[in-house]
Amino acid sequence: MVQIAGSCRYVFNLALEQRRDWWKPGRTINFTTQCRELTMLRAEVDWLKAAPVHTLQQALKDLDRAYQNWWAGRAGYPTPRKKGLKDSFRFPDPVSIKVERTGNSSGRIKLPKLGWVRLRGWYAIPGTICNATVSHRAGQWHVAVQWQREVAEPIPSILPAVGIDRGVAVFAALSDGTNIAPVNHGKKALRALRKAQRDLSRKKRGSSNRRKAIRRVAKIQMRVANARKNFLHEQTTAIANNHGTVVLEALKVRNMSASAKGTAAEPGRMIRQKAGLNRAILDQGWGGFRIMLGYKLADRGGRLIEVPAAYTSQTCAECGVVDARSRRNQSRFVCTGCGHEANADTNAAIIILQRGLDKSLKPVEGHRSKRPDDAGSLRRAA
Ligand SMILES: [Zn+2]
Repeated sequence: MVQIAGSCRYVFNLALEQRRDWWKPGRTINFTTQCRELTMLRAEVDWLKAAPVHTLQQALKDLDRAYQNWWAGRAGYPTPRKKGLKDSFRFPDPVSIKVERTGNSSGRIKLPKLGWVRLRGWYAIPGTICNATVSHRAGQWHVAVQWQREVAEPIPSILPAVGIDRGVAVFAALSDGTNIAPVNHGKKALRALRKAQRDLSRKKRGSSNRRKAIRRVAKIQMRVANARKNFLHEQTTAIANNHGTVVLEALKVRNMSASAKGTAAEPGRMIRQKAGLNRAILDQGWGGFRIMLGYKLADRGGRLIEVPAAYTSQTCAECGVVDARSRRNQSRFVCTGCGHEANADTNAAIIILQRGLDKSLKPVEGHRSKRPDDAGSLRRAA
């Protein structure tokens, strides 16, 4: 598996170099031409012949997709793959993949050239296999099997609707008043991670102790990621089981976490504070929260609605007045218009719910004219 991953990385990097450095006007370099040249290369290089040709072609496909993402503005320019970083390869042909159960919580998978490989952990694949990706993470080999099956359209859910405000002090506030406490395993593990990284920096390059230290760092990172995933699954399953409609504010998680550094022309302000907030955001895993909630609701006949996030924390759930001064502090909301008092996060969650359900509700701008003397505070908030 190390050899196959290495061959795929080699082919990926070579193909990247070809596209980047050898392209001239009038010369066509694309997936098709690179596949053709891969065949010629394999005829000459013995160790490349040892790797299944499909996995090498998939590496070229990955590169092609990376370029398409870059052209479309979805991603940066493709970078070379590094040894030991996200090592993986994919078998695209379902005919040559078989999965069998061998014990209570064990199984085995048959892959081209590798033959039967034992698996720890077992669950019956509930559909037809599409492909399998083998990857190396923190000293462990994982296999992800993609499958598909036809499902009947679920009966639309009649469970109640809920609005959710995602915060930093609380993980999420529900419009029914429930607060979900934040996950702090990231912070706890951060200390262990820093120590491991410090140890790593003292190790000599290329030494076996350094290799072990790298593995320790990766292990802690994986533990944090697994704990986070677990938390998100628990929370999203509970929410999806009890609600038919969930309204979230449309937050651009990627934009928020990228903004701290700013650009060269416009360097970011309060970089340290924002970096701290960003870590908190990424720790909480809001992106994953939305994705999990989305498919779990769809499975149960529910639906996920996203609404604009503007002024949700400053709008009164009782009278609709928008004023930054209404939010007294992190947790208290006292409306300057009608005196309505509430937990600030719960109030925001109710606003989000209202926006999701009430199509007749005036757009956010509509509230501004309600109290002309609030214009000043609005501008500050903006
Ligand atoms: Zn009010």
